[in-house]
Amino acid sequence: MSEFTNVSEIFGSNVFNDAVMQERLPKKVYRELKKTIEEGKELDLATADVIAHEMKEWAIEKGATHYTHWFQPLTGVTAEKHDSFISAPNAEGKVLMSFSGKELIKGEPDASSFPSGGLRATFEARGYTAWDCTSPAFVRQDAAGGTLCIPTAFCSYTGEALDQKTPLLRSMEAINSQALRLLRLFGNTTSKKVTPCVGPEQEYFLIDKEKYLQRKDLIYTGRTLFGAMPPKGQELDDHYFGNIRQRIAAFMKEVNEELWKLGVTAKTQHNEVAPAQHELAPIYAESNVAVDHNQIIMKTLKMVACRHGLQCLLHEKPFAGVNGSGKHNNWSITTDDGINLLDPGTTPHENIQFLMVLSCILKAVDTHADLLRESAADVGNDHRLGANEAPPAIISIFLGEQLEDVVEQLISTGAATHSLTGGKLVTGVKTLPDLTKDATDRNRTSPFAFTGNKFEFRMVGSKDSIASPNTVLNTIVAETFAEACDVLEKADDFEMAVHDLIKKYLTKHQRIIFNGNGYSQEWVEEAERRGLPNIKSMVDTIPTLTTDKAVALFERFHVFTKAELESRAEIKYETYAKAINIEAKTMIDIASKQIIPAVIKYTKSLADTVNSVLAAGAEASVQIELLNEVSTLLSDTKAALTKLIDLDAKSTEIPEGAKLAHYFHDEIIPTMDELRAPIDRLEMIVDKEMWPMPSYGDLMFEV
Ligand code: ADP
Ligand code: MG
Repeated sequence: MSEFTNVSEIFGSNVFNDAVMQERLPKKVYRELKKTIEEGKELDLATADVIAHEMKEWAIEKGATHYTHWFQPLTGVTAEKHDSFISAPNAEGKVLMSFSGKELIKGEPDASSFPSGGLRATFEARGYTAWDCTSPAFVRQDAAGGTLCIPTAFCSYTGEALDQKTPLLRSMEAINSQALRLLRLFGNTTSKKVTPCVGPEQEYFLIDKEKYLQRKDLIYTGRTLFGAMPPKGQELDDHYFGNIRQRIAAFMKEVNEELWKLGVTAKTQHNEVAPAQHELAPIYAESNVAVDHNQIIMKTLKMVACRHGLQCLLHEKPFAGVNGSGKHNNWSITTDDGINLLDPGTTPHENIQFLMVLSCILKAVDTHADLLRESAADVGNDHRLGANEAPPAIISIFLGEQLEDVVEQLISTGAATHSLTGGKLVTGVKTLPDLTKDATDRNRTSPFAFTGNKFEFRMVGSKDSIASPNTVLNTIVAETFAEACDVLEKADDFEMAVHDLIKKYLTKHQRIIFNGNGYSQEWVEEAERRGLPNIKSMVDTIPTLTTDKAVALFERFHVFTKAELESRAEIKYETYAKAINIEAKTMIDIASKQIIPAVIKYTKSLADTVNSVLAAGAEASVQIELLNEVSTLLSDTKAALTKLIDLDAKSTEIPEGAKLAHYFHDEIIPTMDELRAPIDRLEMIVDKEMWPMPSYGDLMFEV
C-alpha cells in the first residue's frame, strides 16, 4: 500500500481532459473540438482523425492496448466491446497500432442482445454507438490491462435511443434552451448556456467475500431472500458516522485513488446508518458527466472490494428490516458564467427570478409526480421506498421554514415582504463560538428537498443509473419554463405578469409542499386527501410512461418518441418479471437443497436426543416441544415451497408484458413471503453449526 498520496498529481492522470487536449492537439483541431463540445457543431472526419490519433498515442503511453465504446444500454449496467489498436501485420509481420477518426466517432455493435422493447426486429440488429465528446475519454486499468474508454450514446439503425444517455443529452438540451429563454426575459444577456448539475451520493454495503460466496441469494439476486434479524441491529445508531475500521479505511483509500485517476471527484465518505453500510459522494458535475462518473464509481467500488476480500452490495435492500441504500440526486441548474438558478440569496422574497424558477419547479413536480416516481422505480427499490427509513412512494417537496414562509406570504397577500433568518445557534460554551444557523433545517424524510441552493431527490435506488431521474427532472422543468415564457413573452407589463404567474403557480400547486414527517402514516392519509399519487410498486409505475400527458411532454422536447416510451415500458415489465422469477427460483433452490436438508438433519439429532433421554428414563418434554415446533415449521416450509414451485411453473403460461409482471407481483411475491416466514423462524431455533449459510449477524457485524 502506498503511504503517501499526492492527490493533485494523480487527479485526472488517466483522463483525456481539456489540459491534455490543449497540450496534444494542434490548435486548430482543439478549437474545432471545443466548438463541438460547447456548441454541438458536427466534427468533420479529418479533424476526428487527428483527435483519434492523439488520443491513441496518449492512451498507449498510459498502457492501453484496447479501446472501447463505453455505453449504457437498458440492462442497468454499462456495456463495452473491446477492440485492440492493432492493425493487420505488414509484409515484415509487424503490427501497427491504429485508431481512426471513424472508429472514434462511431461504433457498430450488434445490438440484438440488448433490450430494445420491440424497437427493431433482430434482422435489423445493427446498433450504433456515437461518441459523446462532452464526457471525456479515459484509460481504465484493471485485470484486462489498459483500455481506452470512449463514452458513447447508443441508438438503433433508425435513430431510436436504446440507452440511458441519449435521452439525458436530449433533456439537457431542452432545459438549456428553455432556461435561456427565461433568463433573457429577466434581462440576462450574458449567459450562453444553462446546464443541469448533479451530485449523486452513493450508498453501499460491504461484506466479507468468503461469507458472500456462501449465500446463493446474494450471488444470484443481490439481496438476501432469507435471514432472521440479529440480536443487535442499527438501533443504537452507533454505526452512522462511526469510526471507520482499518479494513474499510484501506478499501476507501484505494477507491479514492482509483477514482481520482479517472477524474472522478470522490469527496466525502462515511459510515451510514446500517452496520456495514457506507456512502461516497463526489463533487457535483454537469449531469451527463455525473451519470458517467456514477457508473465509474459503482464499478470501482465492486472492483476494489474484490481486491480487499470484500464484496460490495449495491442492491437497494440487501437485508430485510435493515436500512436500504439509495442514491441522493442533488440537482441544480447553472449557467456557463456561474449563476445557480436555484440560489435564493439571503433575501429570497426579493429575488423574483428565483421565485419564478422555484414556482416552475413546484408546478413541474406536482404535474409530473407520477413520472418522477417512475424514474426511481426499480425491482429492488420497491423494498426500500416507504419502508420507514427511506422516503415514501409519495412525491412531495420540502422547502424549509424560510421558503415556505415566503411562499405563504405570496399566496395569501400576493406579495412577500420579508424572509425569515436563521438566527444564532448559542452553544452555551464560552470557548466555542456561536454559530450562524442556516435559515432551513434539514428534513431527511422528504423525497424532494430544497437544501440551500439545490434540490435533493432522495428516491433514486442505489444500483440504478441516475440518467433516468435526471432526464425526467430536466424535461418537466423545461416544460414549465417554456409555459412561463409563453405567457411572459406576450406580457405588456413584465413585472406584473411575473408576480401574477408566481402567485398562480404557487396557489395551484401548493399541495405538493410538505414539510412534516414523510415517514408517518398521517402523511400517507393527508397525501391521499390532497390527491397526490402514492404508487407503491414498480409494476404500477410503468403505465405512467405512456400516458397522453407523458407522450406530449417528451415528444414536445424531443426527449422520447412515443415508440421509445412504449419500448421502455415493455422493457421494464420484462425486467420486473425476470428479476422476480430469478428470486423465486433462487428461493426454491436454497430452500430445497440447503435449508430443508439442514432442518431434517437437525430434527433427526433432536429426535435422537429425545430417544436417549427417554431411554434413560428421564423427562423430555422440552425437547419434545422443540421437536414439535420444528416439525410444524418444516411442514409450513414444505407447503409454501410446493405452492411457490407450482405458481412459478404456471408463469410460463402467461403472456409476457404487463400481465406477467403483475402475476409475479400479485402471486409470486406473497408466496415468497410465505416461504420466508417459517424459514426465518427456523433459523432462530436450529443449531448455528447446522444452518447452511452465514446469518445476518455474520454478514453485517463481521466485516
Ligand atoms: P449532504 O449534507 O446532503 O450529505 P452535501 O452538501 O455534502 O450534502 O452535498 C451532497 C452532494 O450535493 C455532493 O455531491 C455535492 O457536490 C452536491 N452539491 C452541492 N452543491 C450542489 C449544487 N449546487 N448542485 C448540485 N449538486 C450539489
Ligand atoms: Mg444528502
